[in-house]
Amino acid sequence: MTLTRLDKPVQFLKGVGPKRAEHLQRMGILTARDLLYHVPRRYDDASTITPVELAQVGMDVTLVGEVRNKGVIPTRSGLRIFQAVIQDDSGLITCSWPGQPWVERRVRPGDRILVTGPVRFFHGRQIQPREFTVLSRASADAPAEDPPGTIFSTYPAAEDLPQWIFRRLFELNLDRLLAQIRDEEYLPPRDRRRLGLVEISAALRDLHRPRDNARIAAARRRLAFDELFFLQLMQARVRHDATRERPGIAFTRTNRLIRALHDSLPFTLTDAQARVLREIYADMTSPDRMNRMLQGDVGSGKTLVALFAMLLAVEGGYQAALMAPTEILAEQHAHRIGDFLRDIPCRLEILTGSATGRRREEARARVASGEARLVVGTHALIQEGVKFDVLGLVVVDEQHRFGVRQRMALSEREPRPDTLLMSATPIPRSLAMTLHGELDLSTLDELPPGRVPVTTRLAGPEDRPAILRELCRRLDRGRQAYLVYPAIEESERADLLAAETEFERLRSEDLAGRTLALIHGRLPGDEKDRIMRAFQQGDIDVLVATTVIEVGIDVPNATMIVIENPERFGLSQLHQLRGRIGRGDEGGLCVVIAGRAEGEEGDSTPTTARLAAFARTSDGFEIAAEDLRIRGQGDFFGAEQHGHGTELKFADIIEHEDLIGPARDRARALIDIDPQLSAPAHTVVRNHLDSRYGDRAQLFGVG
Ligand code: ADP
Ligand code: MG
Repeated sequence: MTLTRLDKPVQFLKGVGPKRAEHLQRMGILTARDLLYHVPRRYDDASTITPVELAQVGMDVTLVGEVRNKGVIPTRSGLRIFQAVIQDDSGLITCSWPGQPWVERRVRPGDRILVTGPVRFFHGRQIQPREFTVLSRASADAPAEDPPGTIFSTYPAAEDLPQWIFRRLFELNLDRLLAQIRDEEYLPPRDRRRLGLVEISAALRDLHRPRDNARIAAARRRLAFDELFFLQLMQARVRHDATRERPGIAFTRTNRLIRALHDSLPFTLTDAQARVLREIYADMTSPDRMNRMLQGDVGSGKTLVALFAMLLAVEGGYQAALMAPTEILAEQHAHRIGDFLRDIPCRLEILTGSATGRRREEARARVASGEARLVVGTHALIQEGVKFDVLGLVVVDEQHRFGVRQRMALSEREPRPDTLLMSATPIPRSLAMTLHGELDLSTLDELPPGRVPVTTRLAGPEDRPAILRELCRRLDRGRQAYLVYPAIEESERADLLAAETEFERLRSEDLAGRTLALIHGRLPGDEKDRIMRAFQQGDIDVLVATTVIEVGIDVPNATMIVIENPERFGLSQLHQLRGRIGRGDEGGLCVVIAGRAEGEEGDSTPTTARLAAFARTSDGFEIAAEDLRIRGQGDFFGAEQHGHGTELKFADIIEHEDLIGPARDRARALIDIDPQLSAPAHTVVRNHLDSRYGDRAQLFGVG
């Protein structure tokens, strides 16, 4: 990696001695570049700042003023209160920090400070700051008055590095740092114009010296693009390794089996299925390896798509494997695939943990000899001792339930098989592209026609008797149902209904005489399997459950689900639960019985908004978009962080959605022509990447 001036330690900057360098290091600011990218975390302007005289008791305000005097006041109860009086053009107000006498050390008379907090009444108006910032020290640069249009910025600061120090450091160094980063601009003007992006140096200037909100937004947009682009670059490199570096298989399509399956189907493929299959066939028949993710709602026909792909592998002379996260799911797949294959000459084998002894050895032998062409199984597929003859395609169902290593276990064999990952928990395309930039994405966004839609009803606790009557009517017709609870035991949370307690109560009262079973995550795996099987076979009328039933289990005869305390579940999770019903011919009914979350009242709370969205649509993609909007992207990146090291500081998946595709395309195009980024023309990009991703950029070898 070539070091640029921006990669020098902060110590070399003006105003930074050894002591301050140490403090900066503690905040993760090691180099000049780190300092340059240490930008304010909030901005306030006339539209958010209240003149002191207008601050009224009961309001929550942000004020800017000069400290007139200060002191710590002891009270009779022993509580020490730090108080400072601040003044702006319009008047004076007391700021009060009860129990925080140490704030005294951080504020001096003459300082300009910005405070945010509620205005209370104690011997007059006073503000109790939640947050405060020393904007400038009296000695430094305090203007007597802020010119109109001033924007106050707040840097992430620390005890030994208050705001005004950052301000001072940027006064001394910013112009030089901006001149240096100008050399690192990697987007030509034409591309910047096309994408509506300002220069990097202009962006950083506008964040450190804010002039107006539009420029701040434009600056963030530019830095968001950089973030997305370099993330995509890392992912494009992973993709390159997975698909290009070593030869994949170019399957020969003879149509022998594919045609036979087509001809035997009692229905036609949906447009979405046909489109997705074209994408998959194109990948499989090319010499590059396939590394594709297939997203589609429950019931969108993923299994059939996977089967077509597997038959292409088989007719091309290879074996294909499908791995599912549980034994029941594997059996369900094997069963359905077996049905489809009834008149098609293709031998199917099932490999799960429950087969032992001679049966297992025989099954393994058929897989190893190549007699079995299509193999469906669980983790048992990746156990030691399982050998394939010529494995050409691996399909992983519910891919998120496997660890990265498990997912890779089958695909790392030689020759490396094509890979298709399936997910029934759709996430918005923009999010999927950002989280899984190393994969290609296919989407089944259409359900086969003729499904009777599930009705969703929002109810309250008072509706329970009527709901149970409806449930019993369905049981009388021979149907089955699920009752879902957020907790297993009563003690976990006083305000939540618990599966165990409700199970006992229902069994002896409201549902006496019916066959009930209780299932939850603490039961041993084989016990869960036994109960699920009994339910599948109709030996159980009502399954009282926690979210363990969330995963793809399929019982068409179950047509009603009641979910208690739905406010405890994520939107996508609710949608998955609802997906358990509505596979049969009778219209499914999903009832959610909302308790009221603590502190929430009325009809416009986040909970009611979420549940209303859930009831309004049964489209998993719409629900996923809503989920992203409500929960924010942090949740999604948090969960995946370890795999990707993704932390997005500027990029907002919703606000900057339009930048995601271009960032990905540009990154992929660049890696296609120069996988190592070793060409001189790419040094600038390479340096950015190194400084952003450090050791992880080692993927790119030693350029
Ligand atoms: P998923 O795996 O995506 O949840 P499945 O593959 O289980 O969906 O499909 C659900 C049901 O729909 C299955 O019974 C399947 O045979 C049927 N099916 C799949 N594709 C079609 C189609 N194009 N038209 C009608 N029914 C279909
Ligand atoms: Mg499925």
